[in-house]
Amino acid sequence: MKSKYADLKLNEDINKIKEAAECIKEGKIVLFPTETVYGIGANALDENAVNKIFIAKGRASDNPLIVHISNLEMLNNLVQEIGEIEQKLINNFWPGPLTIIFNRKDCIPNNVTAKLNTVGIRMPSNKIAKKLIELAGLPIAAPSANISGKPSGTKIEDIIEELDGKVDYILDNGMVDIGVESTVVRVVGEKVHILRPGKITVQDIENLGLQVVVEKQVMEECRPNEKVMSPGMKYRHYAPNSKCLLVYSETEKKLIDEINKQIQNTKNVLVLARTRHLDKYNTTSKLDMGDSLEDISKNIFTLLRKVDSYNADLVIIEGVKREGLGLAIMNRLIRACEHNYIEID
Ligand code: AMP
Ligand code: MG
Repeated sequence: MKSKYADLKLNEDINKIKEAAECIKEGKIVLFPTETVYGIGANALDENAVNKIFIAKGRASDNPLIVHISNLEMLNNLVQEIGEIEQKLINNFWPGPLTIIFNRKDCIPNNVTAKLNTVGIRMPSNKIAKKLIELAGLPIAAPSANISGKPSGTKIEDIIEELDGKVDYILDNGMVDIGVESTVVRVVGEKVHILRPGKITVQDIENLGLQVVVEKQVMEECRPNEKVMSPGMKYRHYAPNSKCLLVYSETEKKLIDEINKQIQNTKNVLVLARTRHLDKYNTTSKLDMGDSLEDISKNIFTLLRKVDSYNADLVIIEGVKREGLGLAIMNRLIRACEHNYIEID
């Protein structure tokens, strides 16, 4: 069965968004754009509707979903209390790519939060996402639009094959703005803990005069059965089937020399590199990541989806400095490479 589809790339046809909002009200599931990545949404207060998302994605039931809202009244209905620090984050970053973890109220079904007593909430800034939530008049629980384990969907062409027929409605808004998922934070005492890095950076939060702690699992591998603040951290994520290696050095020459050394040692290598480095590598298979961190963040999931079609013996990916948006990019890349990582001093 084909999903219903609306092309909203050039104009936001309100009637189509209304149709999709009706689907949400009826307990169906909708693939919709946000500024970070596409999501698969359902009425966050309807356990059966939310269950359809887990089935469509093949998602583990102990991996909680983020609830998307369009106004603060919805927030008040979902959470126990809003602390001073959370309020400051809301005032500065909502609507936008920041998910905040709160203590939840009982109205939220257990499958949304994977039985945790907390819930992750975000107010997206994408116009279609906002309108969809507003018109449904309901909070929408939505994980990224992809089969679990695959890279998140940043444009419909990348995910149509794996999700067509599995969702009731698809709202196509073209390429997303940011390309990596939201920053996820939890306030513990006076400190803002980053559970997943994103477009809202450590520096952005520190600039509000707040103290920030980056959880160690952001870059390190979780041990089996390790207790983590963010359940999503323990899952295999974004990884192509091909063997991938992430390489980084602060020094451009050392980075290029190391990658060329790796290319010499293996027969059939695909390199993912910045535009300005592409002609420096002695291999014919190359993919252009773009030059700025913003470009790389937008391109990375589409590129990871292309990798396997090259049938390479090894895929080498250029790393970036773990600063600003670079931390989010490296968090996704190190998972895509299953922690196969070389850093040269
Ligand atoms: P996704 O929507 O697929 O990008 O994944 C959402 C991620 O947000 C999950 O994998 C969790 O890591 C995180 N998350 C959602 N709700 C919570 C929560 N209540 N506590 C901690 N982390 C959460
Ligand atoms: Mg996801």
